[in-house]
Amino acid sequence: MSENCIFCKIASKQIPVEALYEDDNFIAFRDLAPQAPVHVLLIPKVHIETIMELSDPELMAGSIKAVQATAKALNLVEEGFRTVINCRENGGQTVYHLHFHLLGGRFMQWPPG
Ligand code: AMP
Repeated sequence: MSENCIFCKIASKQIPVEALYEDDNFIAFRDLAPQAPVHVLLIPKVHIETIMELSDPELMAGSIKAVQATAKALNLVEEGFRTVINCRENGGQTVYHLHFHLLGGRFMQWPPG
């Protein structure tokens, strides 16, 4: 847990959110500024700043399983969805607690702006 990290507070339930998916290591909840009809954030419960600090093999594998489980829970599998990890300044990362965006419910343009 990192003090002053908003996502640590969500993961530890100091700030309550509706968990759309949860397991021992990850929790998913709605983005407060949705960029698509479905916009969910999936975060590890431990504080990891960016994808570059993700090194635990169990968490690495678990994160992909959790993305899959979240997509299933949100009924995104058939129509498809986009998952995004922004990393640091040029990636557009604003919250320095690793998170996967899951975006769905509309067609996603490529390349991103
Ligand atoms: P990023 O720009 O990749 O770091 O994404 C951070 C995301 O976190 C943005 O889409 C924000 O809208 C979202 N966000 C920030 N604070 C909260 C919060 N308290 N609850 C839900 N989403 C949040």
